[in-house]
Amino acid sequence: MDERITDLRAQIDTLNLDLLRLLSRRAEVAAAIGRIQSEAGMSHYDPVRENQMLDALTDANAGPFPDDTVKSLFKQIFQASMHQGQERAKVRYLTSRSTTPADTVVMVGDVPIGSQHAPVLIAGPCAIESREQVEAVAAHVAARGVRLFRGGAFKPRTDPYSFQGLGEEGLRIGREACDRHRLHFVAEIMDASDLAAFEEHVDVFQVGARNMQNFTLLKALGRSRKPVLLKRGLSATIEEWVMAAEYLLSEGNDQVILCERGIRTFERYTRHTLDLSAVALAKIETHLPVFVDVTHSGGRRDLLVPLTKAGLAVGADGIMIEVHPDPAVALSDNKQQIDFETFDRYLDATLYDTKLTAKRTELYGF
Ligand code: PEP
Ligand code: MN
Repeated sequence: MDERITDLRAQIDTLNLDLLRLLSRRAEVAAAIGRIQSEAGMSHYDPVRENQMLDALTDANAGPFPDDTVKSLFKQIFQASMHQGQERAKVRYLTSRSTTPADTVVMVGDVPIGSQHAPVLIAGPCAIESREQVEAVAAHVAARGVRLFRGGAFKPRTDPYSFQGLGEEGLRIGREACDRHRLHFVAEIMDASDLAAFEEHVDVFQVGARNMQNFTLLKALGRSRKPVLLKRGLSATIEEWVMAAEYLLSEGNDQVILCERGIRTFERYTRHTLDLSAVALAKIETHLPVFVDVTHSGGRRDLLVPLTKAGLAVGADGIMIEVHPDPAVALSDNKQQIDFETFDRYLDATLYDTKLTAKRTELYGF
């Protein structure tokens, strides 16, 4: 090798180390500024200040690099310093598995949900329509070993002229039927102003897809001590869904169950698209139990069995399904609810036997 090159390379090596030392010193000073800004609640990003620094650098630039190159090099340095500041300020989210490594077990009365416990089935009609209808469904599902009964009294409907639910009377009807059949009652709450009535009648608050980001409602439920089943929004990202759960935990309620219920995609053969990776990811990223609502995700009776198996195979802690004595005349979701005979066949075909003990371990080894 030409001796001149060896000599120049040695100079470059020294300059590299000098630059690294200077960059590290600069990063420490930037981090000190970042800490003061965090304390004062100020943003770390100050575009005016960045432009001033870039102008000063190009003014002082005597070459050989053109001004644009100097600017882009320094912008990289600014960005790296800002990211470093953000790393330090990283929030520890209560929903995150890195904050709480162990699975959370949600207790609904005497029924444990999550972790190594057997998958739980929530069954019942889409809407509470009458005392007779609720009594028939509650009696049937309870006789098949179901412990959690669902039924909406306040229904979020697309069409304002369609059946909106029986309201508080519906909650009373649901409560009475659940008491008669030793069932725990799950019902959707749409508005924080209904909280007192729900506290009196239900065992689990359901937050529907359309209210996943109703932050006032989430904060109110976060102050309750009853479990919350949080459905994923129709077009919500996994992060938005988990952040909605964070609202509940941040107010002190850690009895939260996540529920994937299908998201809106281009597909039209199904009502929504069941996002199985979201179920698996929610189990990895959070410590909360995760359910799959097989009725609303596919919107098709012929998908109930395969979607149940798929959900449990990716680690779901339970399944939600809609059952109605006569789905053809149901006041909501009449295409998707199943009658008692179909429900019995569903139980036989899925992982549940009549006592609702899980056969998941037998089938999948976990
Ligand atoms: C429901 O479970 O009754 C319901 C309305 O579901 P979603 O909020 O998932 O649409
Ligand atoms: Mn429904």
